[in-house]
Amino acid sequence: MKKHNFSAGPCVLPQEVILKSAEAIQDFNNSGLSLIEISHRSKDFVAVMDRARALALELLGLENKGYKALFLHGGASLQFLMTAYNLLETKAGYLNTGTWSDNAIKEAKLFGEVLEVGSSKSEGYNHIPKMYGVPNDLDYLHLTSNNTIYGTQIKNFPKVNVPLVCDMSSDIFSRQLDFSKFDLIYAGAQKNMGPAGTTLVVVKESVLGNVSRKIPSMMDYQAHILKESMFNTPAVFPVYVSMLTLEWLKNSGGIPAIEEVNNKKAQLLYSEIDLNPLFNGYSIKEDRSTMNATFNLTESKLQATFDAMWKEAGINGLSGHRSIGGYRASMYNALSLESVGILVDVMSELERKA
Ligand code: PMP
Repeated sequence: MKKHNFSAGPCVLPQEVILKSAEAIQDFNNSGLSLIEISHRSKDFVAVMDRARALALELLGLENKGYKALFLHGGASLQFLMTAYNLLETKAGYLNTGTWSDNAIKEAKLFGEVLEVGSSKSEGYNHIPKMYGVPNDLDYLHLTSNNTIYGTQIKNFPKVNVPLVCDMSSDIFSRQLDFSKFDLIYAGAQKNMGPAGTTLVVVKESVLGNVSRKIPSMMDYQAHILKESMFNTPAVFPVYVSMLTLEWLKNSGGIPAIEEVNNKKAQLLYSEIDLNPLFNGYSIKEDRSTMNATFNLTESKLQATFDAMWKEAGINGLSGHRSIGGYRASMYNALSLESVGILVDVMSELERKA
């Protein structure tokens, strides 16, 4: 039986995408060859890369606006330093909203001065700082749109006069935003796009080429743009699965349609967390993420019972991140409303039993 997969990433992918990927591993485009044994320079794979890059820009509404999409190696973690390598000349601002922002700050400090414009670290990252200033002399401001571990999400992005860089690893393609407000967006594939192994970078070309340092080719966005994301051998399988997932999203009505489902899923689960006296939400209400809902049991003695119940219901991946414990229900694009319904049933059943 297929599990209800609430894993934080790698995570649930659309079933049709998994089936098509499996087919391509056996025989890609009826070529008599597997996707993973053909040249990345072959006509068939170049078409996959081009389609994946075009779909990313199309879904974000960034076609013909001076942006380029790249599929790179190294995960979002490499982008923590690559963004600074390419954009940080003197000073950059960072909003510290979680472990991943904190890691991005550490890497950026290797390249220049870092101003932490706001931080919720001392409160366990249970909210997004709101009242912070952004000086006009920054090379850029770096934000993390969704904090996967803590279950917080930026709802209103600041209006700034400096380039905006955003780690959207755990909520890209999940909600409508004016993506043209951002100068550089990056996201590891392994949440809303595909398997781990490739990272989407969407960058406005006009912000590049402005730092004085020499940039090694593999770290240089301009080198990757010039080679159309084929500077070296790309991660062919993750890029192919990402292309299929983006196609699935487009055919399902794009971001507006998936956002509606995502909001329904989040409303269903958060209303159970709020109404059921056995559960407490972790994030403050106004900053709650629609992708990752974090919560705790109010009575720890019920943990073994609850854990046995959700596992019995076919639910996978509900344990919180090892750094904060508790529970985390990740509800990425491919998770169905029905799966959230199953979890909510288990939670209310626990209340009846307790
Ligand atoms: N940023 C965010 C918001 C994340 O959730 C993660 C991983 N879960 C990362 C960065 C790091 O990604 P990667 O493992 O691809 O380096």
